[in-house]
Amino acid sequence: MKITEFAGYGDRLIQLMRSVQAGRIVHALLFTGPHGSGKRTMARLFAQAMLCKGMGERPCGVCPACQRFENGTHPDVRVVKPEKKTIGVDEIRDLIDYLALRPYEGGRHIAIIEQADRLTPSAQNALLKTLETPPGDAMFFLISDAPGALLPTILSRCQTVRFTDLSVEDCAGVLVKRGIAPERAGLLSGMAQGSVGRALELDGDKDYMELRERALKSLETLKGPGTVAAAAMPLEDDKGREGAILDIMELWARDLMAVQQGMTPYEVGELARLQRTPLDGRALLLGVMKARSQLQSNVSWPNALENMYFHLTENGNNGRTQLSWQR
Ligand SMILES: [Zn+2]
Repeated sequence: MKITEFAGYGDRLIQLMRSVQAGRIVHALLFTGPHGSGKRTMARLFAQAMLCKGMGERPCGVCPACQRFENGTHPDVRVVKPEKKTIGVDEIRDLIDYLALRPYEGGRHIAIIEQADRLTPSAQNALLKTLETPPGDAMFFLISDAPGALLPTILSRCQTVRFTDLSVEDCAGVLVKRGIAPERAGLLSGMAQGSVGRALELDGDKDYMELRERALKSLETLKGPGTVAAAAMPLEDDKGREGAILDIMELWARDLMAVQQGMTPYEVGELARLQRTPLDGRALLLGVMKARSQLQSNVSWPNALENMYFHLTENGNNGRTQLSWQR
């Protein structure tokens, strides 16, 4: 994958890279954003580009430096991540000692700190001075989805690159570039609500896709109070997956609400199916929330599910105006 292919961020990162090469910015970058938003991928691509010896667009992905980087064998790269819960001061001292050596390939050292919010306060303090005046041309890449846990003194020494989840369309575009068929890319990015990382997880998760299909079929079977037991049955044995089922139904409910209000759903590829679903999105959403709270108060999963289905259908209109059990 190339930096320019990174929807929404490519241009900005290339600009940043030029600034680094011109020596215009601090040598510490903090990549932040939610899980799956691409911050780690991007930080690694950026770091790789700093070491790439190829001509043209960097990283080229084929030069020896790129290959060593990708294999994790580049001698001038050190990756630090929490082995247990935290990254302690000893690990940071090791890193600082390493950075004091001359880079093996004569270029620069790259230090990548993953889950940087797990640095203990003393580790952060140990890092401060090196972060401000790194030896040689060393560059730091800090990656974190909880930058609030970093000391202000660390934050002030880093240039922050903030990632948000992409739009569903941009996310689908990234998936297509990775070789996923357009229709499936649309479905996955909708389900992942624009998180590329989550979409890729879902793509490899056959169990989840099977569960989703079963959950949606179950909702579609719901056609009146007399169908509650039959609709609920295929899901009642899914002990331990109640949360996942309710998450699937919640996203479906939100998309139903969007469609019923004439807006674009997340699962845009499922528009026709959403339009065919005879349930009221808002009633379904309330049902999901009620079922979650029943599970918390130790109602069994089959009972919570059947209660939800019963309330959704008890007016005989498939829940279109059934909101009474909100009270
Ligand atoms: Zn290269």
